[in-house]
Amino acid sequence: MMSLLNEIVHKIKTVLSYSPHFIALHEPYFDGNEWEYVKECLDTGWVSSVGKFVDRFEQDLANFTGAKYAVATVNGTAALHICYLLAGVKTGNEVLIPTLSFVATANALSYCGAIPHFIEAEDKFLGIDVNLLDQYLNDITEIKNNVCINKLTGRHIQALCVMHTLGHPVDLDRIVELCKKYHLTLIEDAAEALGSYYKGIHVGHRGLVGALSFNGNKIITTGGGGAILTNDANIAKQAKHMTTTAKLPHPWLFEHDKVGYNYRLPNINAALGCAQLEQLPKFLNTKRLLAKKYKNIFLNLQGLRFIQEPDYAKSNYWLNALLLDSSFEDSRDSLLELLNKSNVMSRPIWNLLHTLPMYKDSPRMTLSVAEALHKRLIKIPSSVILGTTHSKSEAS
Ligand SMILES: *Cc1c(COP(=O)(O)O)cnc(C)c1O
Repeated sequence: MMSLLNEIVHKIKTVLSYSPHFIALHEPYFDGNEWEYVKECLDTGWVSSVGKFVDRFEQDLANFTGAKYAVATVNGTAALHICYLLAGVKTGNEVLIPTLSFVATANALSYCGAIPHFIEAEDKFLGIDVNLLDQYLNDITEIKNNVCINKLTGRHIQALCVMHTLGHPVDLDRIVELCKKYHLTLIEDAAEALGSYYKGIHVGHRGLVGALSFNGNKIITTGGGGAILTNDANIAKQAKHMTTTAKLPHPWLFEHDKVGYNYRLPNINAALGCAQLEQLPKFLNTKRLLAKKYKNIFLNLQGLRFIQEPDYAKSNYWLNALLLDSSFEDSRDSLLELLNKSNVMSRPIWNLLHTLPMYKDSPRMTLSVAEALHKRLIKIPSSVILGTTHSKSEAS
């Protein structure tokens, strides 16, 4: 056993040509106009919630993703919160979400007074299992007046939020079909998937709304930040309104027509975002290169599988991950220890949401695949710099 672990560590180290003392899981990379644009904010005084970089960032995001509209927000969780509200999620509703996700997918629902209803994962690309979900909904729901009712709880199931895990797109065609069948509004938590494509189309705007994140560990960063994507003009207008304290446009009056949120992205963060977005095509290339290297070194190694993009998609390979065979699941922690001790930062996947204390009583389907995945997944270093041929260390 120890020899397999040592071999894994050795192989990972051969891929990491950029070898400082410590290799982070995912660090930001600033190699473009970041200084210039941020300096412009400081020089002009436009650092806060309005300014030309906010407008430009929203336009650039729409152009890059092919969404008709993008509304920048203070972080990805805030974007998700507004997405749920725009999808009509109300107090006491249930919303279907994967248990294999970051806690924000569930928390943003709780902010709406709604209840997460946890769904099963599939073990190839780590998204939701559409087949099992279909069977499950067929068993436990009934449609009344175009509304999906959970027969077990009597509650209204309003929406389905899917997540493109580690950047790998879920099968959106099949999910759209399922949403039609059960009268569910589709939301995409695309926080990890900027630069990922489903059958040639950028993810995040297939459903009514989608959320992006630009947190420090994501593929591009604004320090903290997020965005709502939509193709619906009215939804986009509402998104802007709700994230800007529901203030009615007026040169000097402070008129607010409902309880809104201060979820705006400051101009100084948007300046970073504009500079980062300019480099995204380059980032995507280097990440693809790194993933290819990982794929090749793990190809003939028994005992684990390197997670790869689905045939129908092009992934951004935001975070690379290894899935240990079930016979090696007891070795996960030893491997994590060995990697981290060797200054190769690696982490398990998030704790499954249905196991967290605040969600332990939430409704769920059988989650045995997600539970098995949780025991066997390891996230390995995936920073942009690791895929660049001329790394910082070589240049200096
Ligand atoms: C990062 C992330 C979020 C939240 O984004 P923040 O900008 O950190 O608030 C939401 N969902 C998923 C799946 C994420 O990975």
